[in-house]
Amino acid sequence: MDGKALSAALRTDLTAKVAALKATRGITAGLAVVLVGDDPASHVYVRNKGKQCVAVGMNSFEHILPANTTQSDLLALVQKLNADDAVDGILVQLPLPAHLDAQEVINTIDPAKDVDGFHPVNVGKLSVGLSGFVPCTPLGCLKLLQHYVPQDLSGKHAVVIGRSNIVGKPVAALLLAQNCTVTIAHSKTKDLQALCRTADILVAAIGKPHFVKAEWVKDGAIVLDVGINRLDNGTLVGDVDYAAVAPKTAAITPVPGGVGPMTIACLLENTYQAAVAWQG
Ligand code: NAD
Repeated sequence: MDGKALSAALRTDLTAKVAALKATRGITAGLAVVLVGDDPASHVYVRNKGKQCVAVGMNSFEHILPANTTQSDLLALVQKLNADDAVDGILVQLPLPAHLDAQEVINTIDPAKDVDGFHPVNVGKLSVGLSGFVPCTPLGCLKLLQHYVPQDLSGKHAVVIGRSNIVGKPVAALLLAQNCTVTIAHSKTKDLQALCRTADILVAAIGKPHFVKAEWVKDGAIVLDVGINRLDNGTLVGDVDYAAVAPKTAAITPVPGGVGPMTIACLLENTYQAAVAWQG
């Protein structure tokens, strides 16, 4: 499952939709990204988001704040962006420095501008099947399955390894909505290997390089590798031992070039949807 190719196609489609919105209604969709501190990986992500935003014709507003920013200053900025008509989507880059309360910041974002889908209102909507913003990485996983897996997902056993609010839980909710039978595994799960061997769809969102081995994977399984891990030699690898696992699978995402590029494409799509919905 080629996330690079699919995300490029999504961005092409989006470029046309953004231009049409501008031409017909004079609206230029805008994304505000807030970054606090000096985490080098976060700076790379934020730069990429800004570049891709501009490439599809949207406005990008970057707010880079020092590591010692106070909670009240950060909340005040989010409130200012909530009230700014030029801003359709707000993303606060996580993780925040340890002295800041990320949940309070997320709770302050207007749910109609919460293009990351982390606000409790959007989490609740996903959980009860109402339309709202779906977190970008899980949405990217679903789009990959819908594009590359021709069969109906209904009735398939999906095992999701990882229960984070950002990846594991929303991926599980999306697969449940596709009528999969979903098992969420995590660090306390017993006999993970045997459980994984029962999976028709296996999603790895753990953060441990090459954690999932070939013996864990059933022949013909579909594998989504969400993990991004940098080895000491600088190489990026996923949570799945790709070289050993890939020959057994019906479909698998590589790292890099799988789920990763889909995340930003889905963020841009959510921002476009926010502009359309919010600006009427
Ligand atoms: P997290 O640390 O919040 O969650 C990791 C999960 O893995 C936890 O729920 C934990 O229970 C589980 N886990 C840890 N050790 C385990 C073990 N031994 N056995 C079973 N489960 C175990 O991480 P996250 O934010 O969900 O991210 C997971 C991975 O996905 C990371 O590598 C992260 O970099 C990557 N990620 C990628 C994208 C993308 O765009 N592709 C986006 C977000 C996160």
